[in-house]
Order: sequence, then structure tokens, then C-alpha cells
Amino acid sequence: MYLKSLTLRGFKSFASATTLNFEPGITCVVGPNGSGKSNVVDALSWVMGEQGAKSLRGGKMEDVIFAGTSGRAPLGRAEVALTIDNTDGALPIDYTEVTISRTMFRNGGSEYAINGSAARLMDVQDLLSDSGIGREMHVIVGQGQLDGILQATPEGRRGFIEEAAGVLKHRKRKEKALRK
Ligand code: ATP
Ligand code: MG
Repeated sequence: MYLKSLTLRGFKSFASATTLNFEPGITCVVGPNGSGKSNVVDALSWVMGEQGAKSLRGGKMEDVIFAGTSGRAPLGRAEVALTIDNTDGALPIDYTEVTISRTMFRNGGSEYAINGSAARLMDVQDLLSDSGIGREMHVIVGQGQLDGILQATPEGRRGFIEEAAGVLKHRKRKEKALRK
């Protein structure tokens, strides 16, 4: 399973439809400051169901919709579609290619679709939950966080790795239980 392509339309700085194609392995996105690299990462989180405006570096959810520039009027909706290669069957669905899409209008909530059929957020989360991506599964290391990791004490660094591996919440629960 790997991410095959990502299409953004009206999402943050991507006013016109823009498709990024990925290959298996590591992908690097390079570009000048402010050119939209982090917006691509935000689009990935958003299409997989991210619900927090702050995680998307905005103040409110509708901040993901293209807000306009001096030469271009604001748009009324944002759309992102993520296509995942599923030839190894990692996703529990009978398709070798799965496209998840999310659309949001300024005055309304989000609509999701899986391979073109309307879906609920829960359907998207269920589809992704056993695959290592999706809610609380994939790990996005934010800009500036790397410095923090490199300069951390060994204990601090261990905490970060534990959080990424998903064991921190269990350790906190264990510590809480032992204190009782
Ligand atoms: P850096 O190298 O500094 O990290 P970057 O390539 O990660 O830059 P982004 O943070 O992805 O850049 O993009 C920032 C740009 O996106 C800013 O110019 C900002 O105005 C624009 N932007 C963010 N949200 C919107 C929106 N809703 N509508 C239009 N433009 C937006
Ligand atoms: Mg950035």
C-alpha cells in the first residue's frame, strides 16, 4: 500500500486543481518559503478526516478554503482527493485503488466519498484504521519539531519516540494507575 496521488482544488493556496503523483518509497517536496509545501501535508491530514483547525494551522475549519489573493477571488469550496494503491489488499475493501475525497463548503460541513460513493467520516476512519494511516496512526512531524528532537535530552527524545509509536498514552495510564 502506498499513497499514489493527491489532488487539491480550492484547498489553501491551491486555487486551481493541482495533482501530485507519488511513487512507492520516499517523496520529497521542495520549494521556496510560502510556496505551499506544508499546505500539501495539511491536505493529507484533512482528507483523512482531521477535525482540528489548529492541527491544520488555521483558526477555524473554513480557513482551508482558498481565501483569495490580490488577483484572484476567494472560492466557496475546498476539495482534496487522495488515491491509495491497494494492490496488496492492506485496506479492507475490494479495490486495488482507493480514492478518498473530502469537500467542504464555506457555509457547511464536510462531505466524504470513497471511490466516488458518498461516505461518512466514520467510514473513512474505519477504512484506514487497520492500515497504519488515519486517525492517530500516521505520524506527521511538524515544521520546527525536528530541531526540538535533535536538541532534546535522551529522556525527551524517548518521549517523542514513545508518542510516535503510540505507547505514551499507555505509559501515562499505567503511571496514573500505579499512583492510586
Ligand atoms: P515554508 O518553507 O516557509 O515552510 P511552505 O512551502 O511550507 O513554506 P505553506 O505554509 O504551505 O508554505 O504555505 C503558506 C502560504 O499559503 C501562505 O502564502 C498563505 O497565505 C497561503 N495560504 C494558507 N491558507 C490559505 C488560504 N485559505 N487561501 C489562500 N492562501 C492560503
Ligand atoms: Mg512549511
